[in-house]
Amino acid sequence: MQTIVTESVDVAATWLNRSEVVAFPTETVYGLGADITSEKALGNIFTAKGRPSDNPLIVHVHSFEQVKEVASEIPESAGTFIRHFFPGPLTLILKKNMAVSPLVTAGLPTVGIRCPSYPVAIEFLKRCHHPVAAPSANISGRPSSTDWETVYGDLKGKIRCVLKGPRSTIGLESTIVDCSVDPPRMLRYGAVSLEILRKLVPETIAATTQKHQQPKSPGLKYLHYSPSARVILCGPEYPLCKGEENSAWIGLSPPPEGVTKNLVCKDSEEYAYKLFSFFRECDREKIAVIFCEMPPPEGIGQAIRDRLQRASEV
Ligand code: AMP
Ligand code: MG
Repeated sequence: MQTIVTESVDVAATWLNRSEVVAFPTETVYGLGADITSEKALGNIFTAKGRPSDNPLIVHVHSFEQVKEVASEIPESAGTFIRHFFPGPLTLILKKNMAVSPLVTAGLPTVGIRCPSYPVAIEFLKRCHHPVAAPSANISGRPSSTDWETVYGDLKGKIRCVLKGPRSTIGLESTIVDCSVDPPRMLRYGAVSLEILRKLVPETIAATTQKHQQPKSPGLKYLHYSPSARVILCGPEYPLCKGEENSAWIGLSPPPEGVTKNLVCKDSEEYAYKLFSFFRECDREKIAVIFCEMPPPEGIGQAIRDRLQRASEV
């Protein structure tokens, strides 16, 4: 299949409306979109990514009106989060409407919904005839793509179109909060921290999944965010990292001696923004080991810690 790269939201939406898979930019990471009413396009998302079919997709909307097309109930907590974070880097899990295909929700009675903030994403979604189901635009298990070149590198020949836009400014996937239960439960860390959620809805809790227990968010049980290089966590609570040949460092502190490559970030926001592209760069340069400093567990630091933790579990 020939993959078209375009800057035109009209061209990209036309392909999507014809049941083709289209990657598009958002502020978190790039998404891989399909019309939620097209079984063919939904199936092609799973094939293109090599994504397990029991891992549900997040539905992307451009307005509150569209939330009502996919959700059957909007509890008060969800209304509060919507007012503050639509558009923004927050996905809400709500009871699904009958019309939403089980292919989108992997058979769950709930649906994940997000409204991205990039103007180009909103313009694209407005031209699509229905809401758009979109997981991250990467091969399953790999770090999410934060620029169109990486999307193209992973998925060329497997999808119809890439809508070329700016690099994702946040760089990590959305926070997920389940509002289909009471109290609301945060299922995935992202740019919207638990502290911020609790300022708005104080009862919000963080989901804890015991080992061997089915996670509430199915995607959390899969290997994620992994570069080919081995990821080794560093910081006060870890053994001392010693630089070696073909190793790299990313963190907020200066690198250990002896690393071949390093990236020192000025704060956790920059760390989040650059993390996945650094992983990809290390893979291109055949780096064998990446030492990653755990940032403080505050704000987006929690989300970075979560991604690093899971990237290190091989
Ligand atoms: P991705 O878009 O690739 O970041 O993956 C979407 C994430 O959202 C996965 O971890 C899914 O398991 C999660 N997700 C999507 N829909 C639901 C749902 N209805 N309930 C719980 N988690 C969901
Ligand atoms: Mg993903």
